[in-house]
Amino acid sequence: MAAAVSLPNPDRFGYLKPKDVARLAEAYRFSEAAHAGQTRQSGDPYISHPLAVAEILADWHLDGQTLMAALLHDVTEDTSVTKDEISDTFGKPVAELVDGVSKLDRIEFQSAEDAQAENFRKMLLAMARDVRVILIKLADRLHNMRTLGAVPPAKRSRIARETMEIYAPIANRLGLNSLYHELQELAFSHLYPSRYKVLAKATKAARGNRREMIGRTLEALKRKLSESGIEASVQGREKHVYSTYRKMLEKHLSFSEVHDIFGCRVIVKDVPACYLALGALHSLYKPIPGKFKDYIAIPKANGYQSLHTDLIGPYGVPVEVQVRTEQMHRIAQSGVASHWIYKDDTDKLSELQKQTHRWLQSLLEIQHQSGDPQEFLEHVKVDLFPDEVYVFTPKGKILSLPRGATAVDFAYAVHTDIGNRCVAAKVNGELVPLRTELRNGDRAEIITASHAKPNPGWLQYVRTAKARSNIRHFLKTMQYEESAGLGERLLDQAIKALNGSLAEVDDASWERVVRDGGARSREELLADIGLGKRLPAVVARRLLKRGDSTREDAKPGGSVVIRGTEGMAVQLATCCRPIPGDAIVGSIKKGQGLVVHASDCGSIVRSRKNEPDQWIDVEWDPRTTRLFQAAINAMVENRRGVLAKVASEIAAAGSNIDSITMAEDRAVFTNMHFVVEVANRQHLARVMRALRRLPDVKKITRVRE
Ligand code: MN
Repeated sequence: MAAAVSLPNPDRFGYLKPKDVARLAEAYRFSEAAHAGQTRQSGDPYISHPLAVAEILADWHLDGQTLMAALLHDVTEDTSVTKDEISDTFGKPVAELVDGVSKLDRIEFQSAEDAQAENFRKMLLAMARDVRVILIKLADRLHNMRTLGAVPPAKRSRIARETMEIYAPIANRLGLNSLYHELQELAFSHLYPSRYKVLAKATKAARGNRREMIGRTLEALKRKLSESGIEASVQGREKHVYSTYRKMLEKHLSFSEVHDIFGCRVIVKDVPACYLALGALHSLYKPIPGKFKDYIAIPKANGYQSLHTDLIGPYGVPVEVQVRTEQMHRIAQSGVASHWIYKDDTDKLSELQKQTHRWLQSLLEIQHQSGDPQEFLEHVKVDLFPDEVYVFTPKGKILSLPRGATAVDFAYAVHTDIGNRCVAAKVNGELVPLRTELRNGDRAEIITASHAKPNPGWLQYVRTAKARSNIRHFLKTMQYEESAGLGERLLDQAIKALNGSLAEVDDASWERVVRDGGARSREELLADIGLGKRLPAVVARRLLKRGDSTREDAKPGGSVVIRGTEGMAVQLATCCRPIPGDAIVGSIKKGQGLVVHASDCGSIVRSRKNEPDQWIDVEWDPRTTRLFQAAINAMVENRRGVLAKVASEIAAAGSNIDSITMAEDRAVFTNMHFVVEVANRQHLARVMRALRRLPDVKKITRVRE
């Protein structure tokens, strides 16, 4: 059956097993059918593109799965074929590879800043997860660059710039040297077409003029090496137009100054032969001092190894020579070389980087020493940046955040004000909760409201130090302001108890009391009162310049009115959960502010007897409008649907359920514990009455511990 299908250029795939070639042919036929009727900008049938991508990858001797994925890489994006279909027909690994490439296709690079380009490269690498996804993407890009002439000019320069800033550096980092240079040359030729034309023409002319001289030099080198008994192959080396251009820019040179150097390469069989060859070359032509570089002893960061030397050739023309072994040559041309992740020299290699380094080296050995293909596959999957995620802002900037970072972290990373005022988030256009963890490549957007404030609950899930410290700082400031507000009311009450009024206290008295009390400002003094650090009656006496009488301090007249909207300065005790209508008392504890209990709360009896100074009279503000939490217990018959009935009855009585806990038993009766939100005692009574009417409800009680 497989014989019926054949690939257009079967010999390109000759290194694969016949079984893999047959599968590849099936993938080819599948892709051809899916893309039927589609053409490229050049007018060629679309299938020519995935086929070319697979052929490029075959030149790098990649495995069958990668080549199949290359043939199928555009079908999920451009045709009606789904990932599941690919998975069913060609297996899950191939479907994952295709999906990985499609994901990369969907993100677009926009910013021209260097730092952004670096983050974008990391984002791509982090998203890929499997290095083969990146290799397919690079081959895809190479073919698109080779055929870029057919694309409209505006799009052409965007793709060329992206190639120069993103894909060529990735190829370099992977040690794919010839790919790196080809991508650069192509990108340069489309970004600066006229400069490229002039330089390419000049390079060609210069080479023509010197053909005889170059030929004679190469001959002389070969003869010298063979006389010295060194087995070597000597090749002339074409200089890249883009590297000539870069040299001209960086060193402010004219074309002729740069092109004075022509290059050649000497390839020998082992490392000792490299140094022997170098010695022979130096005895033939004089080396230029200071130009010798030993990249064998100290390889470049991407794993590149060679000896570099500049010689003064015949007629005084400089000759740049590279000496390397065959293996070094292979790695320099197309190896997935070591250290693709390297940070600044100042950073030590982290354990992860060392691991990745080891991983890449083993990959390299497996790939080049005809190892086990199964082993190769086990090594290609790695999480390259397990500690980071890369996320887009609405303006296309990329932020790097720690793994697990949420929308709130993102908001603070954009700006402190955005964090402090965020109320909701959109990820990839959809509304999500603020606690949502962000993933690589997400496009996040924060919705703010001018009066919104940070929520203490955020502290439970934020990951960044910036978010954490900003939330803490804000809450502290807010608590301080709220405490000062409460302190003022407590002080007002204490002054009234002394038949005075806060309005009649003059600035001089304030200044004196603030200074004598060791506070920095009037506000700090008031906040201290609100937080229970100073007694309001004592401060009131000092302000009114009355003598101290501790007996009277303990028994102030009047009471503090509680609205329930004071924020963190006033807390309603969770033991008794007082609601308007309940008789209440307040306790001021150091650093806690005012805690309001029901007067009959069992947990405060001892403290009221032993520490009477701590307790003050409080009363509800009749105008309060907020809802308060109350706990109720329902003993119900254990039947299906009983919870739904109870819940809808609570809702019908105009109350919200805050939480429900249920005993997990199978008895005939079971206890349900609710925390509900009510306006006051009358409202709670209405809710409880409504529940009592349900036949399944046997007993209903308000819970006050
Ligand atoms: Mn493509």
